[in-house]
Amino acid sequence: MSLQVAEIYQIPIKLHYSLVLVFFLITWTLAYGFMPHYSPGLNPMQYWIMSIIGTVILFLSVLIHELSHSIVASRYGIKVKQIVLFIFGGVSDIEEEPKDFNKEFKMAIAGPAVSLVLSALFAIFWWITTAIIMSSFDESFKTILIIINGILFYASFLNLILGIFNLIPAFPMDGGRILRSVLFSRNKNYDKSTRIAVRIGVIMSYVFFGLGILTILSGSFVSGIWIILIGWFLQNGAETYLYQYDIMKILSKIRLHELMKTNVISVSDGLTINEIIKNYFNIYMKSSFPVTKLNYEVVGIVTLKRCSNVPEHERDTINVKDIMFPKNKIKLLKVNDTAEKALSIMIKENQDKILVCDDRDILEGVVSKTDIIEAMDEQKSFFQQSQ
Ligand SMILES: [Zn+2]
Repeated sequence: MSLQVAEIYQIPIKLHYSLVLVFFLITWTLAYGFMPHYSPGLNPMQYWIMSIIGTVILFLSVLIHELSHSIVASRYGIKVKQIVLFIFGGVSDIEEEPKDFNKEFKMAIAGPAVSLVLSALFAIFWWITTAIIMSSFDESFKTILIIINGILFYASFLNLILGIFNLIPAFPMDGGRILRSVLFSRNKNYDKSTRIAVRIGVIMSYVFFGLGILTILSGSFVSGIWIILIGWFLQNGAETYLYQYDIMKILSKIRLHELMKTNVISVSDGLTINEIIKNYFNIYMKSSFPVTKLNYEVVGIVTLKRCSNVPEHERDTINVKDIMFPKNKIKLLKVNDTAEKALSIMIKENQDKILVCDDRDILEGVVSKTDIIEAMDEQKSFFQQSQ
């Protein structure tokens, strides 16, 4: 649901389709609200120009904010898969969370810090143009300056909001991560720090609920609803974060040899396409098989789709070896790897199962998403009953 528009520092930048609607909505709100309110006396055309530029600056500011996180992350060797700009702002898709307070702190603070610096820079230029407008007598020159001045004011304001809003100490905001890294640097307990940070996030959400209700009671209905929505967003974020964190924690304690299925059917790398279709795909009704040597060392994976793509008259001459996904193209896991690792690879690579081998790549078993979910449910009910 998103479109790649650029690539910066080898990070794909994507726009979510919902942005088209948001772009129009924001521009419209600026043209009829913010800009005429801030710079009265201009004509509608001029307000539209100010608003379109303002909205573009908004998107660029969100992008720069996200890029700042990503650049620090890649400095630490953490891969950033992509940045997606969508209806509520931007998301950096970072491969894993650093479990090092120094790294997490720098990565999290980079975004708000850059937003606040941008806000200050725009404010300086805004101040300069304001001073020139006051002393200028040429009317047409003054109009252009008033337009630029309004845009600068908005740019400074929005970056200030972007910086401050992200500093709210609650997951999934940057402030939540900053808080956790500070706690973690003091108590050296990642788990405890995460839980405290999540709890503070929930408390923050109640503060926003309370503020929202007070705002509504004082007569500003729309602002009150906005504040309550922020509270809801924070609460939801905290709960989702803790849920995922707990799942990953349980999974990080399960080794693959505890849950893998060991009765795996594999095919020999010397078979022809016709043999494998007749003796394996048609009999076992599976969409893929691991390909192994005689000693069960994995050399690749063959799929039904690839076999079907081979023209029928060639199926007796072409070998499984020639059309399989070779070993270096697939992810093999070891028996002592964790279920957490397996699940994140499955999610990332969008695959349902993964082969498990010993240190010499001898096939030991296979793990599917279902196996992981079942094991997780068992552990969860064990924890619930033992509490
Ligand atoms: Zn951020």
